[in-house]
Amino acid sequence: MLPPRPGATRFNGARPPTTAVVGGGIAGLAAATALAERGVRVTLYERQPDLGGRLSGRPVGLRDGSTVTMSRGFHAFFRQYYNLRGLLRRTDPRLERLTALPDYPLRHSAGLHDSFRRVPRTPPWSALGFVALSPTFGLRDLIRMNPVAALPLLDVSVPDVYTRLDAVSAHDFLRSIRFPEAAHHLAFEVFSRSFFADPRELSAAEMALMFHIYFLGSSEGLLFDVPDEPFPTALWDPLAGYLLRHRVEVRTSTSVESVAPTRDGGFAVATPEETGRHDTVVLALDAGGLRSLAGRSPTLADAPWRERMARLRNAPPFLVSRLWLDRPVARDRPGFLGTSGYGTLDNVSVLERWEGEAARWSARTGGSVVELHAYALPEDAVREVEQKRMLEQLCRVYPETRAATVVDERHEWRADCPLFPVGGYHDRPTVRTPEPGLVVAGDLVRTGLPVALMERAATSGFLAANALLERWGVRGQTLWTVPDGGRSAVLRRVARWGSA
Ligand SMILES: Cc1cc2nc3c(=O)[nH]c(=O)nc-3n(C[C@H](O)[C@H](O)[C@H](O)COP(=O)(O)OP(=O)(O)OC[C@H]3O[C@@H](n4cnc5c(N)ncnc54)[C@H](O)[C@@H]3O)c2cc1C
Repeated sequence: MLPPRPGATRFNGARPPTTAVVGGGIAGLAAATALAERGVRVTLYERQPDLGGRLSGRPVGLRDGSTVTMSRGFHAFFRQYYNLRGLLRRTDPRLERLTALPDYPLRHSAGLHDSFRRVPRTPPWSALGFVALSPTFGLRDLIRMNPVAALPLLDVSVPDVYTRLDAVSAHDFLRSIRFPEAAHHLAFEVFSRSFFADPRELSAAEMALMFHIYFLGSSEGLLFDVPDEPFPTALWDPLAGYLLRHRVEVRTSTSVESVAPTRDGGFAVATPEETGRHDTVVLALDAGGLRSLAGRSPTLADAPWRERMARLRNAPPFLVSRLWLDRPVARDRPGFLGTSGYGTLDNVSVLERWEGEAARWSARTGGSVVELHAYALPEDAVREVEQKRMLEQLCRVYPETRAATVVDERHEWRADCPLFPVGGYHDRPTVRTPEPGLVVAGDLVRTGLPVALMERAATSGFLAANALLERWGVRGQTLWTVPDGGRSAVLRRVARWGSA
């Protein structure tokens, strides 16, 4: 638990401070929520017409006359996402709009399957149980492994893990442990690709952190929930209502062009229509958005900070394809399946298994709503070719889809996830900047805490709000994370022995 600095519970003065939150993804929504709840006057600027950032959604009309919601694709809400769940609880106290998927199954084209349902959740049994139950670890594989190289995984803490492993790629780290080839491809490649990067490019520290969050550092395991309706209905429309009730001015379809410090210690925030003055600013942008905004704001923070922002990199492009099929997939197909060895295909979801809107479409038409993801595609990938290839892979994974007709399809090609390259940790932005009234949030931010992906976005948003509230003597949000270090004293000692 990370308690906030002591202080007043909220502003009660005549003129509350004003904050511009730039970016309406999870990070910006978390920051805006924490600030507005304590009486700060928040203006939330979002370039897109909808809130939610990479989890936004919009209505689309299908060829069969139905109106459905197309989103940026399947997201797993892991049980370790304490701060994100705290944000969602603002409008859904019992998290009834999240629904559990029973398993996280993985399948390799060579026929191997893995599953996390039966794996114990208490460390170290979680990791040992996975090894014992996984068909990818044979006795001979275990004997070949280099356990000393794996010792850093037993005691992961932040930022120490970056000091030790940021200079190594996830791929080389796994090779040094001599992980069985099959486990390498099935379990770990699936994880590292969920950072949208080739394991050869991804920092081993990020992978070790994932291993800690899901295996050795928590008791929740790799099981997760998903929203039971499309993201806008289940998550963002209720949260937008909550923000409006807290007097947040939500400006969607409004891109911030530049931010400049003003002489009186505030900030001029320029949009194409106008320039507004705010006491403080939260930049809650994706990597490309932050890089270009910093580039257009030549007086913001200081030159070294702007140079670091200019070096931020996006992960390679990815494709999310949603297909509305005229017939159902087989009854036993799970709601989500991680795949390996099927060309570029990384996972398949069957939406009617868990999403109300898809279930209603399926019940009405007798069809299935299937979503396919492919991460880390080549920059020069030809869209039509990749889309066709993914469909061919679906037919290999679920052969019954060969006979199906595609009623309609939508494809999302994007490249807005951050890349965590080998050796890049020190270039990443921190929440605080050289300018005390300017803070940064987002899943690319160095938080100093064991969090990743959506949870890093939510946690950094709250941290950014806390940093501002602290200046005004107002108490911020209490934060929770999995333990920052190995949970077992024995294993911690073993890890220390290994690194001595
Ligand atoms: C296909 C896919 C699957 C994923 N699956 C998972 C998963 O299963 N589990 C998980 O934890 N994470 C997952 N993620 C990652 C997750 O989506 C992100 O970690 C999270 O959404 C990041 O939130 P954010 O607020 O940091 O950034 P974003 O959501 O990118 O928000 C940044 C916002 O800033 C806005 N913006 C940019 N420039 C400007 C500007 N100049 N002015 C105003 N607004 C601007 C953008 O439009 C955007 O809305 C997945 C991501 C993708 C793409």
